Amino acid sequence: MDSANIRIVLVNTTHPGNIGGAARAMKNMGLSRLILVAPRKFPHEEADWRAAGAGDVLEQAVVVDSLAEAIADCQLVIGTSARGRRIPWPVLDPRRCAVEVQASVSRNEQVAMVFGREDRGLTNEELQACNLHLHIPSHEDYPSLNLAMAVQVVSYELRMLALDGQLPEAATDEWDAPFSSVENMERFYRHLEETLVLIDFLDPAAPRQLMARLRRLYGRLRLDEMELNILRGILTETQRAAAAAAAGKQDRNTS
Ligand code: SAH
Repeated sequence: MDSANIRIVLVNTTHPGNIGGAARAMKNMGLSRLILVAPRKFPHEEADWRAAGAGDVLEQAVVVDSLAEAIADCQLVIGTSARGRRIPWPVLDPRRCAVEVQASVSRNEQVAMVFGREDRGLTNEELQACNLHLHIPSHEDYPSLNLAMAVQVVSYELRMLALDGQLPEAATDEWDAPFSSVENMERFYRHLEETLVLIDFLDPAAPRQLMARLRRLYGRLRLDEMELNILRGILTETQRAAAAAAAGKQDRNTS
């Protein structure tokens, strides 16, 4: 997906910190075209702080007077909204919206994603200038996200779609035994350490990073309860064999 065809438009933003936060969210997800429609305070040091390493996105941001100007050359305009409006409009969640954006960009169209004011969102008139509405399916008890966070969610979904096929498949969720709890893993590590000391593999006076490395090894594997029981059984038998060998040695020494 060519991100140069996608612009993020912020309308009448009140807090410059949100502009900086939005710029950072965009750059993290590979977007760079920011258009500000009559921002209250911009440029502003608070925007610079919040942008952190995304100062270049702020520097290249274009300030315009009206939404009409910001979207004039676009073929697809998506308006974001925290709540339903009086006139029903096609509403999509960010994931489905990303599919529309990708299709549009693949036809080399210009796409705008429009975000509203912190206190009032977008006006009905502004929303009616959009082809589609995007709603992040937030909880009805408190549906309205912080502006920069909304930009983050929307740009994340664009990124996920752009990366599609390049991400590793998720691990299978079918497994024949439950995975071990932290508590059981800690018991195992104690058992392992005790055994390693007993067989003189681990010197408690100079443990180095051995246990940390073993924790890293088993942590990478994510053992299930069955595997953990097998390992615990091996440790128990190892301890028994070591004790028997030590007793044998003692017998020979005393006889
Ligand atoms: N009280 C306003 C909230 C605005 S929040 C209202 O009810 O509209 C500021 C901006 O963040 C919104 O205009 C929108 O661009 C974005 N936003 C916040 N929550 C969102 C959500 N759940 N879905 C989509 N956009 C959201």
